[in-house]
Amino acid sequence: MISALLDFLFPRTCVVCDRRLARTEHSVCASCLTSLPRILYKGGEEHGRIERLFWGRVPVVRATSALRYDSEEVRHIVHTFKYRQQPYVARDLAEVTADELSATDFFDGIDALVPMPLHYLRRYKRGYNQCDYIAEGIRRVTGIPVVNGVLKRVRNNPTQTHLQINEREQNVANIFRVVHPERLENKHILLIDDVMTTGSTLHAALQELQHIPGIRLSVFTIAYAGMMEQELV
Ligand SMILES: [Zn+2]
Repeated sequence: MISALLDFLFPRTCVVCDRRLARTEHSVCASCLTSLPRILYKGGEEHGRIERLFWGRVPVVRATSALRYDSEEVRHIVHTFKYRQQPYVARDLAEVTADELSATDFFDGIDALVPMPLHYLRRYKRGYNQCDYIAEGIRRVTGIPVVNGVLKRVRNNPTQTHLQINEREQNVANIFRVVHPERLENKHILLIDDVMTTGSTLHAALQELQHIPGIRLSVFTIAYAGMMEQELV
């Protein structure tokens, strides 16, 4: 009743096509959702590439992304939840994705969702961490608890966008620290980020986390941009 009234007073529109959303739709309309370029978990070339990103670096049990970043619509969605003060878009999209992944083994055995932290200055400036919202979307579907405050970002690294892969790795070295490791001891955690490119930032975080006794690591991101890099090379 209240949501119907709010809908009437403040019509919600699709982030992608700007059409009015039905009451059952959230952030992105059903028609746009269908046309977004999905990455099939265990079903395609991109998923294979994502898993290979971590080979020989840190042992990762499972890794996947929801969408391909080489799509104007996906880039627009990410930009909206990251920079336009609409973090709930990240939560809504994560919820849809988690719902689909629930039909697979992706969440099997996962004990905790760990959002990639922002440096506190960046978080203060933005007012939120979009990864908290992605984690919340997954929690709503799976019931897996979110654990914050163990992985800390201690350095505010400059943007990675224009760096080569080896420069990226140096750029992110020592930017994370683990505090209260006992909270994740013997747990299988899902590390959550917004966009994965070369995996360097994720790798830096995983390297810190892997020292926790008995920990197992999996990775989820909303978008995967790796194919863009490869096309540029
Ligand atoms: Zn739409």
